[in-house]
Amino acid sequence: MVEQHGRDAAAALHGSAHSPAQAPALSVVVPCYNEAEGLQELHRRLIAAIEPHFAHDFEIVLVNDGSRDATWAGMVALSDADPRVLCVNLARNHGHQLALTAGLAQAAGELIFVLDADLQDPPELIGPMLELIRAGHDVVYGQRRKRDGETAFKRATASAFYRLLDRLVDVDIPRDTGDFRLMTRRVLNVLQAMPERYRFVRGMVSWVGFRQVALPYDRDARFAGETKYPLHKMISFAIDAITSFSVAPLRIASWMGVCAGIGAMLMLAYVLGAWVSGHAISGWTSTLAIILVLGSTQLMILGIMGEYLGRMYMEAKRRPLYIIDEVHGVRGARGSAVH
Ligand code: UDP
Ligand code: MG
Repeated sequence: MVEQHGRDAAAALHGSAHSPAQAPALSVVVPCYNEAEGLQELHRRLIAAIEPHFAHDFEIVLVNDGSRDATWAGMVALSDADPRVLCVNLARNHGHQLALTAGLAQAAGELIFVLDADLQDPPELIGPMLELIRAGHDVVYGQRRKRDGETAFKRATASAFYRLLDRLVDVDIPRDTGDFRLMTRRVLNVLQAMPERYRFVRGMVSWVGFRQVALPYDRDARFAGETKYPLHKMISFAIDAITSFSVAPLRIASWMGVCAGIGAMLMLAYVLGAWVSGHAISGWTSTLAIILVLGSTQLMILGIMGEYLGRMYMEAKRRPLYIIDEVHGVRGARGSAVH
């Protein structure tokens, strides 16, 4: 079993997994979940986009996030045919952000290029991104100008999410930005020093700071397959994002308590006034209304507190973030022996 610091563990057992002399100039990290149909095309376009800039001095780290289709077999075939491809098989589906984290931990390059497996983020943008890095930036993130092939509902919810995030979170997390970015090793080093379990990687990168710049681009439609983010996953992704970067919901909960308290005082004054003047109230409507409003407010506040408490509990367990089943590829041949 290789745990979150699998590379370190492997390095300890087998000597350094990759000495600095071996470090490629670029690591491309791609999390994949049920992406078998698109892998060949992904590889073809990546190679065509990267070779002009890096010749052979790069590696492609593909992470199989517990796919149920032939993704792993496809990755192994790619890696056998092209030694620059390293593939990582997670023991089960850990979710997009943890799969990405697993891939980042394997990346040895001086620059790290992150993109989705579905070719919604054009690999050809490596050129302009590289120019911005060479101009002295540490992170170049793709900012979506328009999104092809996504439903109006997805676009509306995504935009509402980024607006809400903007309001609640102190860190400046750019809008309409996914995980598509090119960053330097020093940014990755900081990311890897952040041990949290609920990872909203794009927010964590913003939090790191240094010099970050947006590169506007048009997001293509998926090359193959379908989105792995149904509504319920998007909602939990949004909750993870907000709770990992902000305690504003707790403050909102307190304000709700204050408002309910003020309402209660006014009501009490009214009730006492009615009692003093001898007009006892007979109706159950007011009683019931108060019980309902107060009851639901309390439950909501408890729920918000529960969200944070639950997260603290999960973090306190300090379990590894993900489990690696196998690493396949030239470098992995030495690094994968811990099971
Ligand atoms: N993904 C993953 N694990 C998951 C869900 C998604 O590794 O549990 C990968 C997926 O293969 C893709 C990327 O995360 O490379 C983004 O997913 P998707 O394209 O479905 O999201 P969307 O673009 O629709 O927001
Ligand atoms: Mg996609």
